[in-house]
Amino acid sequence: MTSHFDAVIIGTGQAGPPLANRLTKARMTVAVIERGRFGGTCVNTGCTPTKAMVASAYAAHIARRAADFGVAIGGPITVDMKKVKARRDAITGKSSKGVESWLKGMTNCTVFEGQARFASPHEVTVGTARLQAERIFINTGTRPKVPPMPGIDQVKYFTSDSLLDIDFLPRHLIVVGGGYVGLEFGQMYRRFGSEVTIIETNARLMQREDEDVSTAILGILEREGINMRLNAECIALARQGDDVVVRVDCETDPKDVQGSHVLLAVGRRPNTDDLGLEKAGVETDKRGYIVVDDQLRTNVPGIWALGDCNGKGAFTHTSYNDFEIVAANLLDNDPRRVSDRYTAYAVYIDPPLGRAGMTEAEVRKSGRPALMGKRPMTRVSRAVEKGETNGFMKIMVDAQTREILGAAILGVGGDEAIHCILDAMYAKAPYSVVQRAVHIHPTVAELIPTILGELKPLPAAGETTATEPAASG
Ligand SMILES: Cc1cc2nc3c(=O)[nH]c(=O)nc-3n(C[C@H](O)[C@H](O)[C@H](O)COP(=O)(O)OP(=O)(O)OC[C@H]3O[C@@H](n4cnc5c(N)ncnc54)[C@H](O)[C@@H]3O)c2cc1C
Repeated sequence: MTSHFDAVIIGTGQAGPPLANRLTKARMTVAVIERGRFGGTCVNTGCTPTKAMVASAYAAHIARRAADFGVAIGGPITVDMKKVKARRDAITGKSSKGVESWLKGMTNCTVFEGQARFASPHEVTVGTARLQAERIFINTGTRPKVPPMPGIDQVKYFTSDSLLDIDFLPRHLIVVGGGYVGLEFGQMYRRFGSEVTIIETNARLMQREDEDVSTAILGILEREGINMRLNAECIALARQGDDVVVRVDCETDPKDVQGSHVLLAVGRRPNTDDLGLEKAGVETDKRGYIVVDDQLRTNVPGIWALGDCNGKGAFTHTSYNDFEIVAANLLDNDPRRVSDRYTAYAVYIDPPLGRAGMTEAEVRKSGRPALMGKRPMTRVSRAVEKGETNGFMKIMVDAQTREILGAAILGVGGDEAIHCILDAMYAKAPYSVVQRAVHIHPTVAELIPTILGELKPLPAAGETTATEPAASG
């Protein structure tokens, strides 16, 4: 059975559904294909479930610290993992259902459930259906990577997807991978009550961040009792009774790590290997990401790739922005581009890390004259009042153009406060505009103008600034 549509959208992640909405409102007929749960990664196995669980873990953490705030809790703090999961599933289920019913109720939109595969540049199959369209949009996302490490076939391991299926507390969770997914899961399970060991092959966690950020995060997590094995080499898995043993040839400690469960959080790979891209002639890079131009067109006219599968972003907001770029170009005669956007993301450990623009290392590498301001959270009233003084904030500025180049806010409210910086960057405003803004007291964001009033030339690599956090972590 062959059907003709004005557009076919493959995948219902963060770009596909809003694009279907815009295209159908422009009176196009649209076919949307989804092989899994509606809403994709963010809604079902990414942002939403993990942030719901981070909230439960935070509640347990604060309850344990109740005495610090003068609050007495008459008994030990326990976590009911079945209830944590039920709360989380209720939140994700509602979001996923919302996307599904939105698409299924959309005028001019036909939803197909199953695996999509290209048959030619303008033809996609799903089950027995053959769909033809002049425009095809790929929004197929990524999935957890499972590297062929020795012993992988001997043990039961979890990925960030399958760990969400459990409703019990692992006795000792070994997390392989010290990136943001590994750290978020590691900290939350530690707070739920598991023993946790994080294994990282690099010399530091979150290695794309500046060294001071990595060091502070390491301190925060270690103080919560998470075991860290950095510089791990020759990682291999083995079974020992009901336990899992991870071999870690560590510089500092050559002992194996034995635990009850292991989570592999070692990156993701694009869902492009089973799409039949070769039948359409769509080019991918050597890691499988679809090659696109600045307006998200592939090398084949009439085919676009949006979201994580194009390798230009790995976040919900970048995928949604891809939708905005494609819709603006196609429907609004507005030539928006990927290169218009700044790097921005948060890491939802507690306290969170909010990031915008360049890291300090990238600023240094660029060779431009730069100024930097930095302040530990111990000198932020709001953090002190909340009893959450871990972390620091720093902002880098171009000494000549006076534009803000980048910032990192590792601290309570850092995921929100970073937007002061981000908006000023998009406005291309000189930093003095933010410096003179009157922010609300007491907030974390109120320190941003203060820091911008304390800028100093970027210290030479290895030197510290006067406001370098001591043991604040
Ligand atoms: C544990 C975790 C936590 C995260 N936390 C955050 C966070 O806090 N903030 C943030 O911004 N980002 C976060 N992310 C990343 C975020 O989830 C993704 O960047 C986001 O979902 C964008 O994905 P997408 O739109 O590219 O596609 P996805 O959301 O991955 O959706 C792709 C869809 O395509 C479908 N599909 C794939 N292939 C086919 C096919 N051949 N036929 C039919 N359907 C197909 C899939 O079933 C899926 O539904 C997190 C990710 C993980 C794993």
